[in-house]
Amino acid sequence: MMLPLTRVEIEDLLDVQGRDDEVVSAFADLTVRNGFERHVELHLKAPTKGRRDLGEDFEVVRQAVRGADPKARGLAVFSAAARGFKRIVPLDFPVENRVVVNGEPFVLPILEHWYADPVYLIALVDSDEAHLFEARHGHPDRVCDVVRDDAGQEIQRDKPRFTFKKRFAQTRHERLFGTEDDRFLKSVAETIRGHWEARDFAGLILLGQSQITGPLRKRLPRGPAEAVVAEAQHAMTDAPEHLTADVIPLIERAQAEREARALEELRDRCKEKHRVALGATEVLDGLQQGRVASLLLGRWADIPGARCEGCHYRLGAPVRTCPYCNALTRPVNAVQDILVMAMRHGVPVHLINRAPAKDDPLAAANGVAALLRAEANWAPDASSARASEGHAP
Ligand SMILES: [Zn+2]
Repeated sequence: MMLPLTRVEIEDLLDVQGRDDEVVSAFADLTVRNGFERHVELHLKAPTKGRRDLGEDFEVVRQAVRGADPKARGLAVFSAAARGFKRIVPLDFPVENRVVVNGEPFVLPILEHWYADPVYLIALVDSDEAHLFEARHGHPDRVCDVVRDDAGQEIQRDKPRFTFKKRFAQTRHERLFGTEDDRFLKSVAETIRGHWEARDFAGLILLGQSQITGPLRKRLPRGPAEAVVAEAQHAMTDAPEHLTADVIPLIERAQAEREARALEELRDRCKEKHRVALGATEVLDGLQQGRVASLLLGRWADIPGARCEGCHYRLGAPVRTCPYCNALTRPVNAVQDILVMAMRHGVPVHLINRAPAKDDPLAAANGVAALLRAEANWAPDASSARASEGHAP
């Protein structure tokens, strides 16, 4: 089964750092027969002045593509033969053919997919039982149950492996809420809180009868309560596949609303020229100063950047020397740097799919903008005396 890479797995990949040209990253579109082979031939024919021999790495890539899981839609291969490093990642989403040779793995397509497909937490609840599901791409997985036993006490199971048998002959939906019901809903709210805090969910969806989801919502702590993106009627079930058809439109609507809100906020802040960062350089400054509240990224953004070899500052332009410490830099992909920082700092990312229109604030920002918590309390300049203050660890 092809699971999306976790944050830890992406971090593991990024740990591999070599010299400028040591890591070969290849993305193969497996939905087009032989398409990748042709792409690689073109890539190898391109002029590569002063580059080391990549024959061994390309052999690793070719073999991986030939031996790929026929069910995979794409493949990512990372190879640094000189360091004995090789990772093959089958992908359940399509990617464009691409080969990047750099000092670190190129993981941007994986990060973009990770952010394009955020996870929602779903709670389906009635007066006797609750099931929590996590939904990626609208496909829910059941992750936890809370049920009342005959004595009115709660049983929690973190990893459900069984089909829950109804413990009550009659349903109590019609009854007024008593102390026991309240205890049960508090327990459900507590379970939701635990899951909410353990992962980065884009939102919470409450399903069930409104006479139950309403009181449950009031008992939720502030974080998950503010993150409720939909509350809808749904019959009790513990089978995730019975939720899919109802959950997909709720998630699509929530995603569209989230994107529209972020773009509107960006437009307002652009007008006021207040707490906004436009373009890779400003956004990377904001991230490194810990001031970014959320990030907006157009799918078309592809920006060359640089990282200082001396002070490790990340720059949103392909400059050769660091403006802060004058050390040499190495070329990196600025969009990857931005998404990696956002991931590490838990900054919400809105991937904007629309093609840039004339009044699109993202078009003016080359596809990258950020909403900031505060104005900078220092201005980036070339004086090395002040540079170190602004460098986030
Ligand atoms: Zn520097």
